[in-house]
Amino acid sequence: MNIYNMTFSALEDYFTERGENKAKAKLVYNYIYRKTGELSPKVAQMLETDFAFDAGASGASIEIIEKNECADAVKLLFKLHDNNTVEAVLMKHDYGNALCVSTQVGCNMNCAFCQSGAMKKARDLLPFEMVLQLLEAEKFLDEKISRVTLMGIGEPLDNFENVMDFIDIIGHRHGLAIAPRHITISTCGLPRLNEISEIPCNLAISLHAPNDEIRSRIMPVNSAYNIERIIDFAKTRKKKTTLEYIMLSGVNDSDENAHELAELVRGINCYVNLIPYNETSLDFKRSGADRLKSFYSILIQSGIRATVRREFGGEIKAACGQLSAMRRADVGAISNRPRKEKNMKIITEILGMVSTNTYIVANNDEALIIDPEESAEFLIEKCKKEQLKPVAILLTHGHFDHIGAVNGFKEALKLPVYAGKAEKIYLENPDYNGSAKFGRTPVSVTADVLLDDNEIIELAGLKIKAIATPGHTAGGICYHFESENVLFSGDVLFADSFGRTDFPGGSQKELADSIINKLFTLPEETTVYSGHGMSTSIDREKKSNPIYGYRL
Ligand code: SF4
Repeated sequence: MNIYNMTFSALEDYFTERGENKAKAKLVYNYIYRKTGELSPKVAQMLETDFAFDAGASGASIEIIEKNECADAVKLLFKLHDNNTVEAVLMKHDYGNALCVSTQVGCNMNCAFCQSGAMKKARDLLPFEMVLQLLEAEKFLDEKISRVTLMGIGEPLDNFENVMDFIDIIGHRHGLAIAPRHITISTCGLPRLNEISEIPCNLAISLHAPNDEIRSRIMPVNSAYNIERIIDFAKTRKKKTTLEYIMLSGVNDSDENAHELAELVRGINCYVNLIPYNETSLDFKRSGADRLKSFYSILIQSGIRATVRREFGGEIKAACGQLSAMRRADVGAISNRPRKEKNMKIITEILGMVSTNTYIVANNDEALIIDPEESAEFLIEKCKKEQLKPVAILLTHGHFDHIGAVNGFKEALKLPVYAGKAEKIYLENPDYNGSAKFGRTPVSVTADVLLDDNEIIELAGLKIKAIATPGHTAGGICYHFESENVLFSGDVLFADSFGRTDFPGGSQKELADSIINKLFTLPEETTVYSGHGMSTSIDREKKSNPIYGYRL
């Protein structure tokens, strides 16, 4: 047995069965995953007798035999002990490193557009073979990997127990401690999906079609787990589900398909993630840029939350995996690792029913709270732990998911609240801020300072410019910390996307003007922290954001 196959509880059982204190499991996990502490000669002897320890050195169970690098990704080809090979792809984000791991040698799902599907499954990977992809990639990079996606070769749910053990092992707090929200399981949908409905990891389901007729043509698995089952699953799940949709020219990318898809997913707590296809030797073509834009536009105008996935590793034909297209590792989540921007520190907390980014912006020992979502107690405690004194609340806009903790903060700390002048009605009226509609207790908050466009305020020793950016709401404000090159963009500008305009006061034209005429004139190196999802930069969004196509 390989030591990297052992979940923490299995290791505890191992020691208990041998009359040893189960607390030794913690020492072993710390030793092998964190390289801290020492093993007593007795424990070292026990482990040496009962386990293989190899972590990829020559002659070991897994080793890198090929590396293929481009600017933003590295494909690693691993040879396994039985000479089978699997791939993993390392993606370098500005917020950390992510690894897309394989879960099987080949895949039996036979998706028509996927090269892995053309290779029949040879076998399942054992947990240690997935763990070692991670450890070897870290060794290669000489850096930690903070996010893992199960989107490489194989269908994770077709290797259920081993994949669950793998997630257990890499997530354990005494080991690699990769938080569930930084782990994404991507599946084409198998009956066992229902067993992980409430798993705290992200779930991405390969939908790829708006109806069973098309899905059955490109995904044989549809006969076992069809669209109705996927939709029922996503409807009952408490967490947001990502629905993957690969754009295949002439197959599933017409305007009609987009309208059908919008109707299908309406009212579901989900993102639709449109994925440009990486052409392979198979008979499928990538949808053109205009087709993609039109499809995306129909979803957005129908009120569906959609993103277009940034591609990684195009030049290296990055691991085929689920889709022959490299995927974003985080499916919409931002790292909440504190980040330093020159003088200030930014802590992100992802909170609430729609995963709002609440930011704690610290300068020395004072903190500004931007868009506090529930709960105030949690955020106050967080500030305490960080030894920060909250001094003000800045609201980018008044939607319920950005103001949930305002009243709690006011009651506890009497903090002043800043918002845009035209946003007053959203803050005060539950019909405008959406709290009356989205299953929340209707909420009404009061701003103490209503800001004009271009007004400059000074708080916590930081100079902040309020930029009026209507479009998502009538009085939305983005906060620009000029000396730090940082922008908090609320729900106006997102990585590869922009805000919805179908709520009260929304306007597509105003939103496009706000982004193109105001935000895109900021220095290109400005880091953008959005109300949901990943951070980005003005430079990146000027090059890739689809907003240009939606200017009326
Ligand atoms: S897309 Fe995924 S599930 Fe389908 S054949 Fe490829 S690896 Fe298997």
